[in-house]
Amino acid sequence: MVSVIIFLGSPGSGKGTQASKLSDAFGYEHISIGDMLRKNVEEKSDLGLKASEYIDSGRLVPDDLIIKVVSSFFEDFVSNIEGKVILDGFPRTEPQALALEKIIRELRINLSSVLYLDVDDKEVISRLSERGRKDDEPQLVINRLNVYRDQTEPLLKYYNNQGVLKEIDGNKSPDLVFSEISELIKVEA
Ligand code: AMP
Repeated sequence: MVSVIIFLGSPGSGKGTQASKLSDAFGYEHISIGDMLRKNVEEKSDLGLKASEYIDSGRLVPDDLIIKVVSSFFEDFVSNIEGKVILDGFPRTEPQALALEKIIRELRINLSSVLYLDVDDKEVISRLSERGRKDDEPQLVINRLNVYRDQTEPLLKYYNNQGVLKEIDGNKSPDLVFSEISELIKVEA
């Protein structure tokens, strides 16, 4: 059975860092929607051309485009009888969460946990100012944090109600956060 971990958290909460560490340590397939979109922008694919204006202004790319990409990934991936996937940066809106629920049901995927990296805004702003990605300029970070509050944060309640949400203090060092997550994952396995 294919099993999925979702990472939730604001921009700069360490989702990408932790997802990479987990994928190296435990063999998860790491799906970063942001990385995938940036690659498409670089290659000037249809998706990239459509997505770039949203990324560059710190807004979310429209749900229909994102849902299409994630659905086709899972349709290909479930040909694996066993497999472990980390979704880093999806879902980020309620329609995306509902679409994922449908994919999970139809393809008989196991949603093993939703890991929420809770990080203070102050820490986020300091981390992103050091990272230096194009969309990490101060005004865009503020836009992205607002988008996160409005559209993504409601998903915490949605997954908490399903009993799958696990909260982690993401203010700590990457290694400490990683060992906490590893413990949670081992309990699951
Ligand atoms: P990230 O690398 O996760 O910080 O994402 C960078 C940017 O990619 C975001 O600010 C959005 O413009 C876009 N993006 C990433 N994931 C999603 C998603 N699930 N839905 C819509 N847009 C997304």
